[in-house]
Amino acid sequence: MASVSLARSRHVTDVSPRKSDLWKEGRKQATISLERYHYLCAAIQHAYGRDDYNKTVEFDTYMAYKLPPVGGVKLHPLPNGTIHPEDIKIYVERFENNWRCREGGILYCIGEGREWWNMVLNYHATDSTTGREGWDLLFALLKANGYSKGLIPCMYFAQVSGCLDPQCPFSHHEEECRKERQKFLWDRRRR
Ligand SMILES: [Zn+2]
Repeated sequence: MASVSLARSRHVTDVSPRKSDLWKEGRKQATISLERYHYLCAAIQHAYGRDDYNKTVEFDTYMAYKLPPVGGVKLHPLPNGTIHPEDIKIYVERFENNWRCREGGILYCIGEGREWWNMVLNYHATDSTTGREGWDLLFALLKANGYSKGLIPCMYFAQVSGCLDPQCPFSHHEEECRKERQKFLWDRRRR
């Protein structure tokens, strides 16, 4: 097998328990991806609660999966529930200018709690916009298609490790990843 550390946009499907380190890594990836997927569903379905005093987002009302609360999230909605447009702009730029966020896609971005949950708040307080068109579109697609995992880019596919879960249900698009990488490099040169 080729060196995994050099892999790019890669879905490794021949990982078996006999190749135990890769297999374990694949299991770990699958667990993290699944949890992120359910955070995404809970966000879209508004199945979360806020404990602003403890800066925590909770998921007692989300029944499909037991989600641990997310701590360290400072939510700052305006009285009408929206997030200040300037803050949204900063968050969007932060996601777009960060390669880790670009290659990992939405499932990776969910890990950036403060930015992500403030954008989700904005989504539910406005005419369904997180501030990022691509995400609004994905949310609408997921709602219309029973939250199909196949519509969501795999978080590991474009990362250095590649996706090591042979049964990974998320989407793996070589061409899209290549374009995204090229676009990111161009954007960076322009700045
Ligand atoms: Zn995958």
